[in-house]
Amino acid sequence: MRPERLSRAGLATIANKLEAGVRLDADDGLQLFATPDLLALGWIANRERERRHGAHTYFNYNIRIEATNVCVASCLFCSFARLKPGDEGAYTMSLEQAWDKLRARAHQPLTEVHVVNGLHPDLPLDYYRELLRGFKRIRPDVHLKCFTAVEIAFFADLYRLSDEQVLRELMDAGLDSLPGGGAEIFAPRVRRKICHDKCDADRYLSIHRIAHRLGMRSNVTMLYGHIETAEERVDHMLRARALQDETGGFQAFIPLAFHPDNNQMRKLPAPSATDTLRVHAAARLMLDNIPHVKAFWIATGVEVAQTALWFGVDDLDGTVQEERIYHMAGATSPESMTPDALRRLIRIAGREPVERDTLYNVIPERAPVRARA
Ligand code: SF4
Repeated sequence: MRPERLSRAGLATIANKLEAGVRLDADDGLQLFATPDLLALGWIANRERERRHGAHTYFNYNIRIEATNVCVASCLFCSFARLKPGDEGAYTMSLEQAWDKLRARAHQPLTEVHVVNGLHPDLPLDYYRELLRGFKRIRPDVHLKCFTAVEIAFFADLYRLSDEQVLRELMDAGLDSLPGGGAEIFAPRVRRKICHDKCDADRYLSIHRIAHRLGMRSNVTMLYGHIETAEERVDHMLRARALQDETGGFQAFIPLAFHPDNNQMRKLPAPSATDTLRVHAAARLMLDNIPHVKAFWIATGVEVAQTALWFGVDDLDGTVQEERIYHMAGATSPESMTPDALRRLIRIAGREPVERDTLYNVIPERAPVRARA
């Protein structure tokens, strides 16, 4: 890209810093959100993406299970939760029902089970321990990426254990890593307004710190496109970056688009595609120490996720197979993709698909799995 265009976009200094390996600061972050030239921003983000990963675009063969949507919290953006068992739409799977979700995929070479839940006030810790043990009995080879830091904090308070004790108990039962959900926006102003009754940013980050010390890897998310400011987005990224400097345990940063249907923030519009591309590009540039930036295709929509592969993104999550949280909030993306479909959409976008496991070990390409009748 011509230097004059980068100058006109207010991005020349940032591009030069990155070229020289100098870390971006908060003011640079604000400029990434202020520049009118989205394509210039994308060009710089793509340069950083290709330095790290070339054309490779990662995905995994996973299944999501949301074992209960009963939740005592009242996040305004949430369309998934129901306050009490018995409320319309509330559900809690029995252990057998949850295990059946995995048994039903016995013919699939899955590498990951991803579990997130509501904060159920009445389930015993043994429910979660047995859930994990059962998954491992059914598929000892599968990686269990389960329970957000918000859930871990809730368990600790409910069962009167420390956060570390909860993590150790769950690891003993088979937990392999933590997903990044629950981060929302770290700024207290926003948390007070949209998710005042779940764990705060410091505890979220502290739980990831402990998990990393105990040898687990995790991801970190950011819910964008609602009431947060550019300053609060940058602050969020800098807090994640600071913890990563300490531990190195985050594998991916995952911006999550706010979806407004069926929740208490339904008067707000969903974020635009251009905002989605900008957030992913800014994340790639600010988070110099987190290896992967993921576009969760369920949340962004497939076409925007494909475009994001030229705006800093190198990972598209996975096959997913069943998803309630975003679809209850109005997502119109499919609920499931086959590995072949993911490979195809990555190739159509001009990138090279690479199947990975949860820890980013590369899985050699295999013959397509036929759907069961
Ligand atoms: S986002 Fe999570 S913690 Fe908040 S209400 Fe929904 S399920 Fe509960």
